[in-house]
Amino acid sequence: MSETIAARLLTLHDRLARAALDCARDPRAVTLLAVSKTYDHNAVRNIARLGHREFGENYLQEALDKQRALADLDLVWHFIGPIQRNKTRRVAENFSWAHCVDRLCIAERLSEQRPADAPPLNVCLEVNVSGEPSKGGVPADAAIALAKQVSALPRLRLRGLMAIPAPTRDRACQRAAFARVRRLFEALKAHGLPVDTLSMGMSGDFEAAIAEGATIVRIGTAIFGPRFYPELAAHR
Ligand SMILES: *Cc1c(COP(=O)(O)O)cnc(C)c1O
Repeated sequence: MSETIAARLLTLHDRLARAALDCARDPRAVTLLAVSKTYDHNAVRNIARLGHREFGENYLQEALDKQRALADLDLVWHFIGPIQRNKTRRVAENFSWAHCVDRLCIAERLSEQRPADAPPLNVCLEVNVSGEPSKGGVPADAAIALAKQVSALPRLRLRGLMAIPAPTRDRACQRAAFARVRRLFEALKAHGLPVDTLSMGMSGDFEAAIAEGATIVRIGTAIFGPRFYPELAAHR
């Protein structure tokens, strides 16, 4: 099992580097976030042994259990799930990054609850690029105003934007959705916001995301294999 994960990780590093070079980008400008939701702490430990440090989790209780089991390792944890009011304290206290901030009230709570002795919490605003009302994320036309408000909060550091476009296998559609996020990112910079992060691209579409400027790709199944949810349902 761990050899399989190691082999997948090597293959993935090759694909990431090729995707970057294909669009004349430096492969080191793209960070691989290993999305370990639903995989147990032994799987995380296996790839941490290979030198990987950045991990993304969606389900808070599962993530906290895993962090406890891996407390002997020096890992960087990103919370990439939706954040409701009742989760802000535990996210502020236990993660280095929060990727799915989409409302001011959540950002304010994260800032208030970030422990004084920790560095500011790195935050990305999730943008709803596909315009699906059922999905999370700030509408694109409200993103700049929200970014300005979030960037003024003392215990947060606004890093950029995150998006989960509607899944499609059509490369042109993937590119078009990621291009909308990129244009919004450029608009934030034009407004003077010091953003440096575009968190976009998953196992099925990271090449298109890299072509549109992704600086963090969030990848689960291409490293760990297929996910099985049932035994974790109780945690949610
Ligand atoms: C699960 C998840 C991923 C990883 O998805 P894969 O298709 O397994 O690579 C990335 N981002 C978010 C927000 C996720 O929930």
